Amino acid sequence: MFRVLKRSKKSKARLGIIQTSHGNIRTPSLVPVATKGTLKSIPPKDLKDIGAQVAFVNTFHLTDHPGVDVIKKFGGIHKYAGLDMPLMSDSAGFQVFSLGRGKPTRGAKTHQGDEVPLLKISEEGVLFRSPRNGKEIAFTPELSIKNQQKIGADIMMAFDECIYYGADYEYTKQATERTHRWLLRCVSEKRLLKYSHDRENIIDEQYLYGIIQGGIFKDLRIASAKFVAAQDIDGVAIGGVSVGETKRELRKQVRWVSSYLPEDKPAHLLGVGRAEDIYDLVKYGIDTFDCVEPTRLARNGIVFTARGSKFGRIDLTRTKYRRDKSPIEENCNCYTCQNFSLSFLHHLFKERELLGYYLATYHNLFWFEKIFEDIRGKIETNSY
Ligand SMILES: [Zn+2]
Repeated sequence: MFRVLKRSKKSKARLGIIQTSHGNIRTPSLVPVATKGTLKSIPPKDLKDIGAQVAFVNTFHLTDHPGVDVIKKFGGIHKYAGLDMPLMSDSAGFQVFSLGRGKPTRGAKTHQGDEVPLLKISEEGVLFRSPRNGKEIAFTPELSIKNQQKIGADIMMAFDECIYYGADYEYTKQATERTHRWLLRCVSEKRLLKYSHDRENIIDEQYLYGIIQGGIFKDLRIASAKFVAAQDIDGVAIGGVSVGETKRELRKQVRWVSSYLPEDKPAHLLGVGRAEDIYDLVKYGIDTFDCVEPTRLARNGIVFTARGSKFGRIDLTRTKYRRDKSPIEENCNCYTCQNFSLSFLHHLFKERELLGYYLATYHNLFWFEKIFEDIRGKIETNSY
């Protein structure tokens, strides 16, 4: 499934290929986020021109709507959503953080108890409340795998608990060990389903990544990396980052586990998508990165550009662009920069015209793919 084509002599950075039944992913690579089966505002036919190789769909949201049985009826998410490319699905573990740790309760010591009405975590699994209609949604490791099999993405994530930032040592240890026990249940469930009769319409090969947790504690991170790497899985992911920690803490958490990542399996970093972070983190052996940032920022009129600083960004809604004839970036070959001025983009955002969301998202994704092309080129030429 994974071939390393070249290892850097200066760091742990590597060039590789992840092979799936929907095509290959050249790594290091961005994994743009298509939460509900769509990269917001971008039709699938444009993804090739943008350079996107793979996308990340969200199991919690697709279970909530349209429901995984609907997706299975259509032969899986690739066919249902018209996405003919490798896809990854998450496990709903991140929602333990994002739905459970909303701003009002942030900083509290425990997930459990009355203060977090959205969910309950037990050894069995997690009980969510749908943010859409208030219905209860249960996730266990087994249900997460079952649902991900019905979605049919090429790569699944094991069910984990994304631990909130600020959790103390004792809580982090308990939650990390629970995530390990959940991983074993995910591995067995995947094995069981592989040989069951309930697999029609689902893709041939579905891979499973185990998720490393351990919060901000070095010994827990290393223990988690060792445990996860030793299981019968196809790849590893580092989770529990991008939950409010500083850039230094993020780098430390990845560096701690770097030496324990399997040499022959792909490594994914969950939820990290700042270009300046990515340039550093590929040096620790990370192959793929997913992040909502390029698409989410674009919809708010924030676009990436090297104007001013290498990883700069500008706000298209600012009045100073009203008469600006230049594109977002002079050297960008994307459809947006080749055809539209900052003035027109500013106008679209001020008037909330739908084309604005498309053009800004197109540029941000294209810009990010160039960053990864640059990184791959640097590893290729030994300058990394
Ligand atoms: Zn552009």
